[in-house]
Amino acid sequence: MARKLKGIAAAPGVAIAPVVQFHTTLDRIPTWKVPPEKVEAEKLRLQDAIAVVTQSLLALQKELAGAIAGHDVRIYDAQLAIVHDPTFRRDVENEIAAHGVNLEVAFQRVIARYEAVFEAMDSPAMRERAADVRDIGRQLVAGLMTTARTKHTANGRDYLFAADEFLPSDAGMLDRRHLRGIVTAHGGKYSHGAILARSLGIPAVVGLDNVMLETTTGTNAIVDGNAGTVILDPDEEDLASYERLLREQRSVERRLAEVRFQPSVTPDGTHVQLLANAENVRDLDNIETDAIAGIGLFRTEFAFMERRQFPTEDEQVAMYRRAMEGAKGKPVTFRTLDVGGDKPLGYFRMPNERNPVLGWRGIRLCLDWPDILYTQMRAILRASALGHARILLPMITSRGEVLRCREVLGQLVEDLRKTGIAHDPNIELGVMIEVPVMVHVLPDVLPLADFVSVGTNDLVQYLLAVDRDNQRVAKMYDPFHPGVLRVLKQIVDVANGAGKSVSICGEIAGDHWFTPILVGLGYRELSMAPVFLPRVRLMLRSFTVAECRDLAARATSMQSTAAVRKLVEEEIQMRWTRFLGGTGEEAKP
Ligand code: PEP
Ligand code: MG
Repeated sequence: MARKLKGIAAAPGVAIAPVVQFHTTLDRIPTWKVPPEKVEAEKLRLQDAIAVVTQSLLALQKELAGAIAGHDVRIYDAQLAIVHDPTFRRDVENEIAAHGVNLEVAFQRVIARYEAVFEAMDSPAMRERAADVRDIGRQLVAGLMTTARTKHTANGRDYLFAADEFLPSDAGMLDRRHLRGIVTAHGGKYSHGAILARSLGIPAVVGLDNVMLETTTGTNAIVDGNAGTVILDPDEEDLASYERLLREQRSVERRLAEVRFQPSVTPDGTHVQLLANAENVRDLDNIETDAIAGIGLFRTEFAFMERRQFPTEDEQVAMYRRAMEGAKGKPVTFRTLDVGGDKPLGYFRMPNERNPVLGWRGIRLCLDWPDILYTQMRAILRASALGHARILLPMITSRGEVLRCREVLGQLVEDLRKTGIAHDPNIELGVMIEVPVMVHVLPDVLPLADFVSVGTNDLVQYLLAVDRDNQRVAKMYDPFHPGVLRVLKQIVDVANGAGKSVSICGEIAGDHWFTPILVGLGYRELSMAPVFLPRVRLMLRSFTVAECRDLAARATSMQSTAAVRKLVEEEIQMRWTRFLGGTGEEAKP
């Protein structure tokens, strides 16, 4: 009989296949006593284990580089950082020396302590990091044991991965050609496993408490990654309706592939520039630069966060040059260091703040430590000799802050000119609009800015006073709020009135349900994570500007978020489905 399990929708899409159960815990860990004279030998084994895991993580990262979004490959950097953390190493060594236990047991104990620390954290995103620590422990112990994990082969048959959880290292052990879906007992939307599943385009449902008890290897199942449900032993009716959905999913994918290089233009001929967001030079390897107008947001802080100390000016120049080469002559907008808030910089002492999102972050920190800004801007200027670079300032709240940055930039240009170092003397300086007060001071700020970019991730969070990482209120974080739409309208009107280019680089730029509204509000530049480009492009090609304007006008005049969402469902989703020739079952916004 068919049974339905309800879990958390972690990666969209539908899959039908038999389950293969994976048991990922390493039972029977060898245990022995280590006398003091053998402690050094155990420490040598520790070095070996670290080397083995480092190698396998680097190999996996390389293997996945072409298959998943560049910034998601960073998940493995986070794991490498744990393996190479001197504190972790010291803790393991102390465990061996102080308690006379072998390395396998020391790993287990230290990992368990680290897991507990992460699990006790307030932020759900940080709690999810416990899974990474667990995964590291598993890899380190497996690396020491002769029964090391072997790669799974599917023998040409499609399957669903079922396990207690999907951990980053699993991606390397699975036969991905035939992996159709993922179902796990644990894990959340923010877990690295969920991020990887989304990046790999594999439907996933997590948090299915009893999935390992309710299934055995071979159980037929339907994974609905849109609804967060799994149907075990589905009946004819379930199968028929999901097979129809699968056909539709394939037709959407075909259409998306067809439009990949087509112009980003509405049916009545209005061009909208589509740009990509990047967090790393590596991201650029996987971006089809022919299909975009440039890199609309290069989040430089991630390159700083991966390191153990501040990059020197020359190191930064090399990085920015590589980014510009990767962009193949298209403009690259480098945002200056935006650390603080949810982005810590390990080697820079940050205060413990009660409200870090309202604290010392972005441009505030850089203006307090002008050397950081000075070095970074000089490096971007030097790289700008190679092509079209632009500078973007994060978290700006006043004209005064922009003025100070302009002064630094002016001084640097003058220094470089005097010393004969190549640079673009007319480099554009842009301002991010992500703090609500900017909407009110925009007319004062615009004369100092060459362009503006709306960071809706922070702007929405501040406008609605909702911390996205706080589960209790996360539902209230809804950019379709009519108040948010009105603010977006005001920004684009004021910027256009002043003749300044304005883009959106927050997540809504990549949300295809938003595209017609943004075009209707007047936005003509959208910068997004590359995976969203095809859907946004397809959406753009299916609504005339007049239709977009009508939708935007109706949406902004509504009195509730629910009403806007209903409009989106009825007008945008229906049209999209008709455009695709489907049946109206595409995932709802
Ligand atoms: C934003 O706030 O929308 C933005 C693009 O910046 P980040 O997401 O990096 O904070
Ligand atoms: Mg931001």
